[in-house]
Amino acid sequence: MFDLRDLYQQVIVDHNKSPRNFGKLAGADRVAEGYNPLCGDRLKVYLRIGSDDSIEDVSFEGEGCAISMASASLMTEAIKGQPIDRFTDLLRDFQHMVTSDLAETPDERRMGKLAVLAGVREFPSRIKCATLCWHTMKAAVEGDRAVAKTE
Ligand code: ZN
Repeated sequence: MFDLRDLYQQVIVDHNKSPRNFGKLAGADRVAEGYNPLCGDRLKVYLRIGSDDSIEDVSFEGEGCAISMASASLMTEAIKGQPIDRFTDLLRDFQHMVTSDLAETPDERRMGKLAVLAGVREFPSRIKCATLCWHTMKAAVEGDRAVAKTE
């Protein structure tokens, strides 16, 4: 469907078919929901913050296009067990990557597997599909426990 490089496409297909960290997270203390009306992607992310301000555990649920699901799956893999500061850095780097000029090569050493999503730059309408999970996770990270309990 997308003219991405083969390897990139394989990773996206794989993560869409078998998303990692998919499902409700038991003991989550933060929850946030996101919606991308342009495509119809819906996500709910669950988060448990450790006492050392790390992302102790994370999961997501939802339905949407292959890009949105693969992006959420890859994001949870990338941030699980990481300090919140690392999430903030990756969010910034990810946003830069998917909106940067096509001539700019993604920094795979920095981005790891997330670099496969650089291909969305060629499809501007898909950028929101790829960034939805990051915005939703940001809301969860910044939300306080009192708010999350209303879920
Ligand atoms: Zn989408």
